[in-house]
Formats: sequence, C-alpha cells, structure tokens
Amino acid sequence: MSDEQILDSAIPIESSSIQDFKGKYPKQIWALFFSEMWERFCFYGMRGMLAYFMSTELGFSDKMSNLQYGAIQAFVYAFTFLGGMLADKILGFRKSLVWGGLLMITGSVLLAIDPHKLFFLGITFNIIGTGFFKPNISSMVGQLYRTNDTRRDAGFLLFYSGINIGAMIGGYVIAIGKGEMFTSWIPSHLHWNYAFGASGIAMAISLITFLWTKKKLGVIGLSPLLHASKTKRNGLEFGTYAVALAIVPLIMIMVSNTVYTDYFMYTIGPFSLIYFVYEMTKYNVKENKKLLAAFLFILFSVVFWAIFEQAGGSLSLFAKSNVDHDLVGLTMDPNGVNNSINSLFVIIFAPIVGLLLIAMAKRKTEPNSTVKFGIGFLFLGLAFFTFFSMRFGASSDGKGSLNVLALGYLIVSFGELFLSPIGLSLMTKLSPQKMQGFMMGMWFLASAYGQYVAGLFGASISPDESSTGMEKMEMYTNGYYDFAWYAIIAGVILIALYPLMKRLMQDVK
Ligand code: GLN
Repeated sequence: MSDEQILDSAIPIESSSIQDFKGKYPKQIWALFFSEMWERFCFYGMRGMLAYFMSTELGFSDKMSNLQYGAIQAFVYAFTFLGGMLADKILGFRKSLVWGGLLMITGSVLLAIDPHKLFFLGITFNIIGTGFFKPNISSMVGQLYRTNDTRRDAGFLLFYSGINIGAMIGGYVIAIGKGEMFTSWIPSHLHWNYAFGASGIAMAISLITFLWTKKKLGVIGLSPLLHASKTKRNGLEFGTYAVALAIVPLIMIMVSNTVYTDYFMYTIGPFSLIYFVYEMTKYNVKENKKLLAAFLFILFSVVFWAIFEQAGGSLSLFAKSNVDHDLVGLTMDPNGVNNSINSLFVIIFAPIVGLLLIAMAKRKTEPNSTVKFGIGFLFLGLAFFTFFSMRFGASSDGKGSLNVLALGYLIVSFGELFLSPIGLSLMTKLSPQKMQGFMMGMWFLASAYGQYVAGLFGASISPDESSTGMEKMEMYTNGYYDFAWYAIIAGVILIALYPLMKRLMQDVK
C-alpha cells in the first residue's frame, strides 16, 4: 500500500489505535528497536575505529586524532539537526530513515573498499546518512505514545537498550581491524576493510528490518506533505535527496579540515537558535515555557557529552597506551573493552533503572526529570574521578588497570541512563507535534557541540608522542580529574534549578 493509500483507506491504522496499546510496550517499538540496534552497530563500529585508525594507519598525532575525531562526531550530530528539520518539513520520518540508511551503507562500502584512500569520503556519507536516520527513529518512538502516557520513559529505556546492544557488538569490531579477531580467515592486509565492511552489513540489516516492518506503523512517520500535490511533494523530496548528494564533496573538505569544522560549528548553533526562536513565535505561552525547559536540558547536555565523549577520543588513546589487558582474569583488548563495556552495562542496568523508576512512580517518589539529569552528572563526575585514580596503581611503564577502567565505565553508564534516554523522552514530551523532529535534532545538535568540545578537551590533555608511558598516564588522568569537577558542578547547578524547571515544565514531570 502506498503512503497515500494508508492515509485514505477506509480503516487506516491510526496512530491513536497504536497509542491505545495494552501492557507495558507498544508492539511497534520492537521494529524500531531492532532497526536502531543495527544502525548503532554500524555507527559505533565506525566510531570506535576512528581515533585508533587515524593515529595508527593515517599517521595522525594523538592531538590531531582527537581533534579530527571531535570534528567528525560534531558533524555527525550536527547533521541530525538538519535531518530532523527536513523530516518535519519534507520527508517525514520514514523516508528520512530509508534515505539515511542507504547513505550509511554507501559510506561503509566505500570504507570497506579502501579505508585508507577513501576514509574521508566514506565517513562523509556516514555523517550525512546518520543525520537523516538517527533523530527520526527516536521521534517515531515518541509517537507511539499519547502525550501524557507514563509508560513513555520505560519505552525509551527499552529503545536505549537496543541502541546499546548494537553499540556493544559494533564497538568490538575494532578488534577485527587491529588484527586480533578472526585472523585465520581474514588476509592480514585486509583487516580494516573487513572491519568497516562489517559495519556496512549491519546497516543493510537495519534498513531491511525497517522496510519489512514499517507497514505496522500505521500513519506514524508518513510524509508531512501527503496533502500537497504529488508534483510538489516529489519535487521537494527529490530536491532533498539531490542536495544531500551534491554537498558530499563540500562536507568532505570541511570534515577533513578541522578549521572548517570550527566555522561550521560557529554557524550552525546561532542558526538553530534563530530558527528555534522563530518557531516559538507560532506557539502560545504555555507551549513556549515547555520549549524553554527543553532548551535548558539541551544546554546542559552539551556539558555532559563533552565529558562523556572522551570515551571515543582521549580514552580510546589512553586505552591504547596506558591500560593493561587484564579484565577480571581474562585477557582482553583494552580498546575493545573501552568501546563496548559501557554499552554492556547500559544493557544490564537499563531494565533495572526502568523498574526502579516505575516502582518509585507508584509510590510517588520518582525524581523529577531535572533531578534525574542532575544525578546523571554526579555519576559522570564520580566516573571521571575513578579514571583519575588509575594513576595510583599504574606500573612503572604507565599501564593502569583495565578493571578500574571498567569500573569507571560502570559508573558512567548509570550517569548516561539518568540523562540520555530521559532526554529523548523529554524532547518528545515538551515539544508540540509539529516541532518534534526539530527538537530531537536540537537535542542531538547538543551532542554535536558536546563532541566538538570533547575533541578540544581531549586534545588539550593529549601528551606528545615522545612522552613516556608514565608521563602520558599523568597527563591524561590530570585531565580526567578536572573533567570530574566540571561534571559535579554542572550537576549541583542543575539540581538547584529544580524550582524554575518545574514551573517551566508545568504538567510534564
Ligand atoms: N549513546 C546514545 C546513542 O547513540 C546517545 C548518543 C548521544 O546523544 N550523544 O544514541
């Protein structure tokens, strides 16, 4: 059935009938869960390899790898802002997902063909593709629920587990690239090709999963232009596809030159703010108060991601030079653990935190979202104090314990659970229907700034190549000590803002 037929058919599967589901979760959430799981496999597979690949295969210094990593990640998330906006206005969530998926597959195939020569081209396709995919699948989860359905946070926590199953398995793909896995059947000169290729296969599975199950989604995610003429709609849709392809060379140049990334980041933020204020003029005071609250959450999340995202940047290089291979008696690759263990903990603890929140809600003791965010920051701070503490048990060549690194990630994961899925859920609760894609895009744009600052933070604590192991250990952990304090301060400020946030959020908890 075509999109128009679904809309016009006598018995359309209305989103309202989906929203009237019984039980804990709407069944449509599983389609989105699996599709997002495979997309995140692709994305985190690539992310986990970036800094390492640039530093060992492309000959970049640690400092440069950090900056470049931050730039790539900043672009990824900045494009989610554009992707969210285009979905609201032109493509709708579904077509955005399909188009984004196709671009990501293309990017991964290019990287699989020649990761050295086609590195930036492949990455650029992945950046633009993620922009179309990532925010819109999250918005679709939100649309499975009525505005005040209290099961929404639990739905996002479940979805977040899917994200992390994909991220955990994808994150370990670096071990293939490094030549530490499947060595007997992958020719030694093709390790990286296979590793990037694995990401492409994952993305193809994600897309097939979505295409297979999208008809269960009723009217959710259809084009916002279904009532416009077909010529106008097609023109705008194909125009969007064409522009996305046409800007590939430009984005490639910008991504590979971090100075341009700076310009880009200086521009997109103010642009998004002006657009946000312009959109606000269309709504009443009550709705605007909620939008303002959403904006404050977004601002704080920049700080959170700037610290959290050391994981893919400086912590990845720290794991390479300063962490041993012993995880509770098992010999493990520290980079693989660095990339994957956070997700493992999120998968284990997401349902537990979910149940805890439901139990607290029943007793009316569930913390408000502002306090949850604040708690997220306190955990983040504690985790970075833990990374700092690795210097105390370090060997004379500057190797710290993988077990302590893992403990730090355990704590980080709680911080993430209190902030990230709650943030997704909040964006869908605090935004009017027609601004959902845009606000989700803004939420991820905050991650873009977070990633960007993460790259700068990471570069600022990167030791010189000539440093000894012990000097590297000291330099990195000094940085983690400072980051820990930034997190604690942000958490305390946020909790103190609770009365103001409560007034702005009104009926939203
Ligand atoms: N780990 C989460 C995801 O990939 C959140 C990422 C982010 O918002 N920075 O969806």
